[in-house]
Amino acid sequence: MRIEEHLNLLSQSWKKTYKCRVMKIGLSLGMTCPNRNNGGCVFCLPSTFTDVINDDNKLSLTDQISQLIPKISSKTKTNKFIAYLQDETSTACSPNFLKDSLAIIEKSNIFEEVIISTRPDYLNIDILIAIKSAKLPVTIEIGMQSCHDYSLLFLNRNHTHQDTKKALKLCQDFHIPTGVHLILGIPGETKSMILETINFVNNEINIKDVKLHNLVIYQNTQLSKIYHDYNFLSYPKYIELLATVIGNLQPEKTISRLFTTNLRQDSLAINSFPGIKQIWLKELWIYLKDKQIYQGSLLS
Ligand code: SF4
Repeated sequence: MRIEEHLNLLSQSWKKTYKCRVMKIGLSLGMTCPNRNNGGCVFCLPSTFTDVINDDNKLSLTDQISQLIPKISSKTKTNKFIAYLQDETSTACSPNFLKDSLAIIEKSNIFEEVIISTRPDYLNIDILIAIKSAKLPVTIEIGMQSCHDYSLLFLNRNHTHQDTKKALKLCQDFHIPTGVHLILGIPGETKSMILETINFVNNEINIKDVKLHNLVIYQNTQLSKIYHDYNFLSYPKYIELLATVIGNLQPEKTISRLFTTNLRQDSLAINSFPGIKQIWLKELWIYLKDKQIYQGSLLS
């Protein structure tokens, strides 16, 4: 299967840079997302953030690195790792704490790069100065989700698109590359609304990478209580929409994720999507191939 021919995948870009497979290692700074005080995002289930290597989320950053990396190294064929501060809101801390955490990552001499995942309203000048102090290349992943405030309200994100624009501008001013998380299939969003989001992303030169998610409905989330009232995308419709998004995404942007498949199946409220990544990839590849869609090929 040559799905890579249709897409600009971040994993392939890393392979070219590092001449081998690169593995992202999820690390936790041990913080709690401030949006929990506002009820949290409707889809958020904190336990799904925790990396399998740090299941109880109790290890310090130093311990996570020193105890867990050797285990992973012995199981994989790569020695190239990227530190991924992925859980919660990784900049909801003091600039000094973030600076010290980045120094710990650097001193381990294990990582090539760092990715910091956060909310747009938790980026400010002091935090960016702290990030800029890092010697390793850093990318900031911003939870944008959509350019439509109606959708952000539905998701209970408690930030606006204006916040995303400000965060992107700040990162650009500091010359820190960014990625954005987008959710495809937010109830109420039409295809043209989604393409407005993609168009915004295309026009932001400092957005280098896009991470696409289907809206997963886990048990015990706000979404699991209200989903009966809304229409959600079926699996075939998601593949179709994904292909349209790919065709309308500028070819220079890398894609780091196409869907969320690493699902904890027993925690799902609706289980209508397959949990196996290879099935999704095959379906998507067949669709892209049949319709002759390549990344950016639908752009006018
Ligand atoms: S911002 Fe992220 S961590 Fe916080 S509640 Fe929303 S999805 Fe969860």
